[in-house]
Amino acid sequence: MFHADLIERTARFRSSAEDPLRSPSACPTLVLNADFTPLSYYPLSVWPWQTAIKAVFLDRVSIIASYERAVHSPSLDMKIPSVIALKQFVKPSAFPPFTRFNVFLRDRFACQYCGRTEPLTFDHVVPRRLGGRTTWENIVTACAPCNMKKGGRTPAQARMMLHLAPVRPTSWQLQQHGRCYPPNYLHETWRDWLYWDVELEE
Ligand SMILES: [Zn+2]
Repeated sequence: MFHADLIERTARFRSSAEDPLRSPSACPTLVLNADFTPLSYYPLSVWPWQTAIKAVFLDRVSIIASYERAVHSPSLDMKIPSVIALKQFVKPSAFPPFTRFNVFLRDRFACQYCGRTEPLTFDHVVPRRLGGRTTWENIVTACAPCNMKKGGRTPAQARMMLHLAPVRPTSWQLQQHGRCYPPNYLHETWRDWLYWDVELEE
């Protein structure tokens, strides 16, 4: 499903002929690890063009592809990089940080009680007043109505079943979830680097 979605989105690429008209701020750079895989899927690893050009001059990255759009200054005249690769491999950390965004991503942006996708909040499975802590294992994504309905009760007391018991995810698991949410912006030069890394479906 993600595959079809990605292809559909890539069909909406601007043609490269429009590139020279593109403002530099519309030229984010896709950052690949030294093994040429994207650093992350969601949020996609992109840098502002200024950061990318700075990294080029610091010799930390190789330019893989460029926009037609160039930037000019008295000391600089170069096309904005659209894809760069780090020269040194960055080992992804095994576990992602415990952030609001990552909790949503673990729960696939859906209420863990009813499956609704908005408006989303966070729920302490075991309420704080009963000693529940703010941890991966006790925080779930919940829609506002479920959160309200559950109140200060446990799921058993409220007779509200959790879709999945919350666990601390690995970075790999979050990346897998991230693949389900392609970014809104994809430049044509990014296509190969994202496309070839997508798992094939039977
Ligand atoms: Zn709900």
